[in-house]
Amino acid sequence: NTFAEIDLGEILNQNIRRCKYVKPTPVQSHAIPIALAGRDLMACAQTGSGKTAAFCFPIISGIMREPYAQRSRVGRTVYPLGLILSPTRELSCQVVVAYGGAPINQQLRELERGVDILVATPGRLVDLLERARVSLQAIRYLALDEADRMLDMGFEPQIRKIVEQMNMPSRGVRQTMLFSATFPREIQRLASDFLSNHIFLAV
Ligand code: AMP
Repeated sequence: NTFAEIDLGEILNQNIRRCKYVKPTPVQSHAIPIALAGRDLMACAQTGSGKTAAFCFPIISGIMREPYAQRSRVGRTVYPLGLILSPTRELSCQVVVAYGGAPINQQLRELERGVDILVATPGRLVDLLERARVSLQAIRYLALDEADRMLDMGFEPQIRKIVEQMNMPSRGVRQTMLFSATFPREIQRLASDFLSNHIFLAV
């Protein structure tokens, strides 16, 4: 199969062609239709499998389809529609902005322009939430990238704090995708706490 056969919306399909992506990787060809159908997803994916596009494309597509999608900001607080949590700044930059260990001022200025999809490491996001510069009340899409690595790095309390701040009741409002290379008990516990009636995908 090809990306042309997957309806991600005309603009996104054009940009995918521009990137010279023709065939979805195995994790993409399974995960994207599941995500486009609105289902929660737990997927087994290694680095290099194309997992980033597997969760980014459906999030971008979904947000572009929303008639009311707009960069919303009230005062100095931004309300992203999509959140991607990732363990390291390197990984965040491959996908964009809020990671710790870098001066926060530039990130604050960038946030002031508004943001539809925020990519953040857990520690820095908790800081931004405490400063009330970001609110998660409008989140419709949540992706956890390399969830096992985030737990290995000790981010579980921050991740739980972040998810607790999302729109309540979250069930049915938020679509959640959890990507991990391994599935120890702690990851299964996160999945049962954060996902709703999810599909498990191992490729
Ligand atoms: P990831 O596993 O998300 O880190 O992606 C690994 C690399 O594969 C990245 O450099 C992507 O740009 C590239 N890539 C992802 N999906 C595709 C695809 N369907 N066709 C060609 N390259 C891809």
